[in-house]
Amino acid sequence: MMPEPPFQPEEQSAPAPLPWYAIDLKQQRFSKFTWRFLAVAGVVLFFCVFSIKPLWQFTWRHHLNCFSEFYSVKSATGKSYPGGAWVRSKKIIVYGAPGVSKMSVASVASGLEGLVTELGLDITIKTVPLPDDARASLQAAQKQTGDGTSFDYDAYLARRLDDRGERFGEMVVVNQTFVDPNWAWGLTRFSEGVAVLQAEKADVSLGRHEGAHLIGYDLHDDMPWYIFGYPENFNPQDRDTLMMLLPKKSDQLSDRARDALLNFWHGEEDREKLTFFTKRSDRRRPAQCN
Ligand SMILES: [Zn+2]
Repeated sequence: MMPEPPFQPEEQSAPAPLPWYAIDLKQQRFSKFTWRFLAVAGVVLFFCVFSIKPLWQFTWRHHLNCFSEFYSVKSATGKSYPGGAWVRSKKIIVYGAPGVSKMSVASVASGLEGLVTELGLDITIKTVPLPDDARASLQAAQKQTGDGTSFDYDAYLARRLDDRGERFGEMVVVNQTFVDPNWAWGLTRFSEGVAVLQAEKADVSLGRHEGAHLIGYDLHDDMPWYIFGYPENFNPQDRDTLMMLLPKKSDQLSDRARDALLNFWHGEEDREKLTFFTKRSDRRRPAQCN
């Protein structure tokens, strides 16, 4: 009698993996670390979309949502400069590249000056002829693109640090489109203290908009999406304020932008141990008892 062969189960084909949208989360087992990570990520994401007025003011006062503005910046020759150190000069100069009309320069300077005065900041705005050391910087920013030259903003920033250091901030009006993005009306960085504006679009409103970026408000009025405590349309597209990316007709600072800037500069006073306001605002006065 022949021995029976050992029992061998029939081979079963492995079940096809479920598509990601069919996964049942209740069946998943996440580690404690993963749950904590998801919770923190969810909170961060929530506050990127929504905020509340006191938190918004606090984060600007302590530079929490603009901390990268204070990272050191590098010049074209590789020298490091502390980000935003130009504020110690309390001075911003405004000038035009060769070929830019005096009218364009005057209008953006007027916008910037109006903004600084409105906020009560002790910053002097001065319109000047093209500085000699800016000629070399402008030359370094020329980049051949397609059928002409465009303005390389990053190259200009780096070269300005070599040519003028952080002796003051500056707003420049040029006649060229930017290399990247070529649709921008202006590009501005607080860190290096340089705003470059398109002559074609130069007016008081653009001077105020880029001026607000230059003095620290590096956002537009749609980020975060909605801040509880401010009277603003729930849909950002319905907001018509100076700091929307494409303001429709208003050149008024929104309440959120004004609060951000005022708190930012009070934070700067603490940081730099300098006075940046022409007069003390109510919020800095000691409480009075009747
Ligand atoms: Zn902008």
